[in-house]
Amino acid sequence: QIAEWKKLQKVATQSKDGVHVELAANIGTPNDVNGVLENGGEGVGLYRTEFLYMGRTELPSEDVQFNAYKTVLEKMQGKPVVVRTLDIGGDKELPYLDMPKEMNPFLGFRAIRLCLDRTDIFRTQLRALLRASVYGNLRIMFPMIATLNEFRQAKALLLDEKEKLVSEGVQVSDSIQLGIMVEIPSTAVLADQFAKEVDFFSIGTNDLIQYTMAADRMNERVSYLYQPYNPSILRLVKMVIDAAHKEGRWAGMCGEMAGDATAIPLLLGLGLDEFSMSATSILPARSQIMKLSKAEMASLSEKALQMQTAEEVVELVRSIGM
Ligand code: PEP
Ligand code: MG
Repeated sequence: QIAEWKKLQKVATQSKDGVHVELAANIGTPNDVNGVLENGGEGVGLYRTEFLYMGRTELPSEDVQFNAYKTVLEKMQGKPVVVRTLDIGGDKELPYLDMPKEMNPFLGFRAIRLCLDRTDIFRTQLRALLRASVYGNLRIMFPMIATLNEFRQAKALLLDEKEKLVSEGVQVSDSIQLGIMVEIPSTAVLADQFAKEVDFFSIGTNDLIQYTMAADRMNERVSYLYQPYNPSILRLVKMVIDAAHKEGRWAGMCGEMAGDATAIPLLLGLGLDEFSMSATSILPARSQIMKLSKAEMASLSEKALQMQTAEEVVELVRSIGM
């Protein structure tokens, strides 16, 4: 099997009936890029930048960030790189920010909420990203977007920093796609409206499942509610993909579900354009997708959407030998 996967390293991912999907990787540091290329990643679908901020005693400077982003973009040689802006809070803390303890950190002051408040921190990151944008194919993504106003505010800050840089004579790319994570149910439900303003969606199922099922993703006692195959989750995923396509945008997924062999046939059938996963899952996923017909998986996923429980969906996927 490993030999078969190796042969797929440089092949673009196509379903049996000839539909291309992009298989990208999730990374946390510039060093991870080597693994992405070795495993045949067609891009980086999620660069979790919070690791740049963790394990140090103060905020990373603009230049420290610029160098990290530039390194990733250069190593990826023109392949798309989706960089997610700072997603701190929830389970990830920064000691030097001295944030008050919260009763419900996953429902609290995190990610874009913090960035729109601490605009000093956010602007520094945006400047570093904009400066790095000329070294490759940069896409910028905002985490934990719950409302259109949050997206508009974040975008306005980005455009403001871009204008400043350009007036300082700094080169900035004009083709940076700007997207959002869909990991809060309100955003999935309103995806048709978001699709008019964003360039792409990336569905963050790790959080989307947690918030849809109201089950803390870190709490073992409620882990039985963590159900990627629950028809409610599949319906939300479908809403997001359909909304994107209606406006000519693309929809990806960067939660764990994207690399899951049971979910992949369903996601292919629902029309997902980009699957972002840990690098070591890419070749197995490519091998799996090349054996699947997208048209057949579309009928399969139609059936799944009409089912009552996650168990029934799993059984359905098993029935086609997956
Ligand atoms: C997600 O929520 O699915 C996601 C990819 O983000 P993180 O796991 O970093 O919260
Ligand atoms: Mg998340």
